[in-house]
Amino acid sequence: MRIGFIGLGNMGAPMAVNLARAGHEVTGFDVAGVSVDGVKMAASAVDAVDGKEAVITMLPNGAILRSVYEEIVPAGAPGASFIDCSTVDVDSARAAHELAAKAGLLSVDAPVSGGIGGAAAGTLTFMAGGSDAAFAKAAPLFDIMGQKAVHCGEAGAGQAAKICNNMILGISMIGVCEAFALADKLGLDRQKMFDVVSTSSGSCWSVNTYCPAPGVGPQSPADNDYKPGFAADLMLKDLNLSQQAAAAANAPTPLGQHATEIYEAFVGEGGKGRDFSAVLPWLSGKGRD
Ligand code: NAD
Repeated sequence: MRIGFIGLGNMGAPMAVNLARAGHEVTGFDVAGVSVDGVKMAASAVDAVDGKEAVITMLPNGAILRSVYEEIVPAGAPGASFIDCSTVDVDSARAAHELAAKAGLLSVDAPVSGGIGGAAAGTLTFMAGGSDAAFAKAAPLFDIMGQKAVHCGEAGAGQAAKICNNMILGISMIGVCEAFALADKLGLDRQKMFDVVSTSSGSCWSVNTYCPAPGVGPQSPADNDYKPGFAADLMLKDLNLSQQAAAAANAPTPLGQHATEIYEAFVGEGGKGRDFSAVLPWLSGKGRD
């Protein structure tokens, strides 16, 4: 298949590499002017989309997604399928679907979970919103980039699932960082702490797969000086999305709200551009008050 891939950052680049390795002809575009193994780089987003059967976007936020879609949808080839894997607000996802539908193109919002490790290993989970036809057309590509794809419902349903998932992740990462920082102050060895928690009732993805303590557990951004990975400012974006959605739906999310405030403080105090697990060294450097 001829695939256009726009947004080749921490996530997009390894996803595009996996599509190319699977034998697809992938043409990429990123404003940062990156180069990616096996991917032919185009001079513009429109060039990357021209004549492609599938177009994948992996962009930072809803405003950028909307402006990129305004630009690329008119260049979509007849019958092309547009697949947006970015994490964005439900309204931007629906606006993107509408633009595609008006141009007679199939579209899915298909945000992912699994982090950069999952993107590189091709083990992401996709949560998709859109018509049955659009999901069916995208499914073989999800199979290459991921291990599971759930069709959550109509346009925007994938983003709804994603912000709920990431609200859990933000809360759990803070909980894990607090526990490691407390364990340090209680004189516990971090490796022992990992050995216990990773096989006990405190185990979760934030410990077992993405441990925020360097040198223990599997390789994670903590072992790479907290370079993202998943940047704290992107986590803050997702938590803000969860709180906007909770306000609109009148849903109580007290821990989600507190996690948003904690990431706001962390990003404001040097966390911007660091991995979201760097809450651990940030907390470790603080006293109780
Ligand atoms: P990133 O910042 O590393 O990558 C985004 C890329 O988009 C950058 O390379 C940037 O140059 C490019 N870009 C920005 N504007 C553009 C434009 N107008 N045209 C073309 N390219 C443009 O971010 P990421 O970590 O790869 O995340 C991408 C999306 O995936 C975000 O929505 C994020 O919330 C979501 N996500 C990230 C992770 C993670 O672990 N990093 C996990 C799941 C979902």
